Amino acid sequence: MFESSKPVIEDTEENRKICRNYCTRCPNAKHHCLDKHQPTELFCARGPSSATSMKMMGCFCQACEIYIKNHLRGGFFCVRR
Ligand code: SF4
Ligand code: SF4
Repeated sequence: MFESSKPVIEDTEENRKICRNYCTRCPNAKHHCLDKHQPTELFCARGPSSATSMKMMGCFCQACEIYIKNHLRGGFFCVRR
């Protein structure tokens, strides 16, 4: 039987579009120019940003429907490894 406690978020264009409503607008993304580093969005599915020396500031994930639907925790997926 397949069991997993970790939600799997699919890397789809639809999910990226939802993510852009939050990640690209948050203080963290703007301050650290996350649009200049890969991955640029959907960090909960694609892993953290390759930008360095990031601080945790003002994550918008908690308002995102993907976050809510998948019962994600903590936010700051662009920073956390
Ligand atoms: S939970 Fe955060 S990283 Fe994941 S799609 Fe939503 S805004 Fe983007
Ligand atoms: S994961 Fe959170 S802190 Fe990082 S860019 Fe997305 S909304 Fe901002």
